[in-house]
Amino acid sequence: PAFKATVLTLFPEMFPGPLGHSLAGKALKDGLWSLETVDIRAHARDKHRTVDDTPFGGGAGMVMRPDVVDAAITAAHPGEGPLIYLTPRGEVLRQPRVKALAKEPAVTILCGRYEGVDQRVLDKHNALEISIGDFVLSGGEAAAITLLDAVVRMVPGVVGKTESLEDESFETGLLEYPLYTRPQVWNDVPVPDVLMSGHHANIDKWRRQQAEDITRQRRPDLWSGYVAAQKQEQEGQ
Ligand code: SAM
Repeated sequence: PAFKATVLTLFPEMFPGPLGHSLAGKALKDGLWSLETVDIRAHARDKHRTVDDTPFGGGAGMVMRPDVVDAAITAAHPGEGPLIYLTPRGEVLRQPRVKALAKEPAVTILCGRYEGVDQRVLDKHNALEISIGDFVLSGGEAAAITLLDAVVRMVPGVVGKTESLEDESFETGLLEYPLYTRPQVWNDVPVPDVLMSGHHANIDKWRRQQAEDITRQRRPDLWSGYVAAQKQEQEGQ
């Protein structure tokens, strides 16, 4: 496969989960990417298979032990691509990072549980820390599924030519324009006239205007980036 994912987790039974269905699932079956899980608990050394312990310095919760996590990483790490640790403390995931990861031959993803993972094992393996947003999940598995869903659809061949990636949210620096399909009148609401006109230049103009309005209203952060890029483009001409 062009892209190999390995997930280190205390819950291997959660995979492939949603990744086994639809677009990602078909691509998995077709061998466009591969998914392996490593059960972290299988690398515990004592008879109780302990993977966590109390934090030095006190405080609530438990911390995943560095020796156990290290053994799992060593068993799994194919030596290619980054080791990703999913954590609310990480770089917030955005489309440019998603695209960069899709170009890697492989990624290894470490899912945390409890309060997280002992810092020393993250440092030893130079982990790339990624967050899927400013909120706290109970474990890294849902984040791993989210990250892989986004990355796999950027792996060449996974999304067919009919489902264009070019017009999507973030590609143009804008959020997507509103979408409509049949019936033409639904719930007494007709589809906007311009979309029925067959006039492609006008349709493009309308869509761009809608995308700009939505982005300006909802995401001032994206909007200022878009305005700056437009300005640069004009100055460059
Ligand atoms: N004590 C951590 C903190 O305050 O940052 C939160 C730990 S959380 C309860 C348990 C695990 O869920 C984390 O180790 C991480 O792997 C995962 N996780 C939680 N929120 C996440 C997010 N926003 N992005 C990525 N992973 C997350």
